[in-house]
Amino acid sequence: MRDSAEVAVIGGGPAGITAAYKLSENGINTTVLERDPVIGGLSKTVFHNGCYIDPGGHRFLTDNQDIRQLWERLLDAEMAECKRNSSIFFNGRLLDYPLNVRNSVAALGTGDILSAIASYFFSHVFPIKPVITFEHLMSNRFGKKLYETFFKEYTERVIGLPCSEISADWATDRIQDFSMGNALKHAVGIKKSDKDGIKTRTQVKAFHYPAYGPGTLWDKMAVHIKKRKSLIINNAEVVRVHLNDGEVDFLEVNIEGNKTEIKGRHYLNTMPLRELILRLLPLPDDEVASAAHKLKYRDFITVALIIRKILVFDEQWIYINNPSVKVCRLQNYKNWSASMVDDENKTCLGIEYFCFQSDEIWNLPDKDLIELAKRELFLLFKINSEDVEDGTVIRMPQAYPVYDLKYEDNVSIIMKYLNNISNLHTMGRNGLHKYINMDHAMDMAIKVCNKIIPLIQK
Ligand SMILES: Cc1cc2nc3c(=O)[nH]c(=O)nc-3n(C[C@H](O)[C@H](O)[C@H](O)COP(=O)(O)OP(=O)(O)OC[C@H]3O[C@@H](n4cnc5c(N)ncnc54)[C@H](O)[C@@H]3O)c2cc1C
Repeated sequence: MRDSAEVAVIGGGPAGITAAYKLSENGINTTVLERDPVIGGLSKTVFHNGCYIDPGGHRFLTDNQDIRQLWERLLDAEMAECKRNSSIFFNGRLLDYPLNVRNSVAALGTGDILSAIASYFFSHVFPIKPVITFEHLMSNRFGKKLYETFFKEYTERVIGLPCSEISADWATDRIQDFSMGNALKHAVGIKKSDKDGIKTRTQVKAFHYPAYGPGTLWDKMAVHIKKRKSLIINNAEVVRVHLNDGEVDFLEVNIEGNKTEIKGRHYLNTMPLRELILRLLPLPDDEVASAAHKLKYRDFITVALIIRKILVFDEQWIYINNPSVKVCRLQNYKNWSASMVDDENKTCLGIEYFCFQSDEIWNLPDKDLIELAKRELFLLFKINSEDVEDGTVIRMPQAYPVYDLKYEDNVSIIMKYLNNISNLHTMGRNGLHKYINMDHAMDMAIKVCNKIIPLIQK
């Protein structure tokens, strides 16, 4: 069977859904193919037993006016401002995060603070050059002492590589213009407002959030897309991208076990670059295929536990810097929005683990993961397992594109090859192997659509 659409979109995450929204708004018939039963990709919201679960926790934060207006238009009254309240669990105590001078001193003690200040000044007088790795960049910005105390171990747990093997771009994309100078100014109250526009994402004190999580946005967009006679097909995995004469000819799609072919004039891709290349038929030459094989991704598990308690902690999320547990971060969804848990006497926590799919933890049965999360919750916050009413596991494959020291070279080999396929446009976080947020993924999709709409309407 062969179905056709003017544009076929691989992936129903923020980039794919936004593209379909924009194209269908312009009268262009679009089909989105999403392998998951739910749309939203890494920003999906999962409903379980009266609780809305937002794996990772998604702050709505942007300096892009067009995207902000789109959010406001679609979410209207359902979006509220949320005051950030986050901490870091360090040396057995909770410290405010972003760090401030007061509790850093309390946690480290005067001796360590003095050595941190000395190491900060040393790193500014004698910075490491050239700056290639995350370790170089963070040691230069914060001083080796603070970098090693607060960032090294946590980052290595999140990314799964030693910081000396992570590209400096990771800090550039993640922490942007965050510097110790700014952090200290904020901490002592000198820098009360940010006249340069949006604060770094790390420092920002408030953000927006929809009452029932980010999934509401994708669902609202989906209603418009379907009204305009375009399609979103769930449980539809693109297994092959067939090429003919240097162009995409059709997609081979597995829809709930049935093989189908989807044909389009243009194809938008948001699946990870590695998978895209390895699913092309015929396969590209060895150099391109080998570059694709070398791209790495970090995977992510959320174990959501429903607890019979009104209050477990006040924060929206807590970073866990403690080598005796595997959990990296905790989310408390009702502190993002009270509507996320339908029974106010209960709390739903997300216990978050970063891993590779080859790791034992990824492959543990759900019931073992739930037991692990319960044990770690008891160790950290003395929550008894009898208070845990229910649990569910959400695995998010390829949550972070890994920036190892060769990633840029590999991406550039792949992009050079893909740029020659004129009806295939790759975009989004994994579609470009770029650490971006929802707003960037949406903006990227709109820009790609602006490029192809005139070609289709011509
Ligand atoms: C832990 C975590 C926390 C985050 N926090 C924030 C935040 O606070 N604020 C923020 O703005 N952003 C945040 N993000 C980033 C945000 O989730 C992403 O930027 C956004 O989801 C990227 O959208 P995308 O469409 O490019 O990709 P994705 O969300 O990855 O969507 C791609 C889609 O393609 C589908 N797919 C893959 N392969 C196939 C195939 N072969 N066939 C069919 N479908 C396929 C996938 O199932 C997925 O649905 C966070 C991400 C993570 C992991």
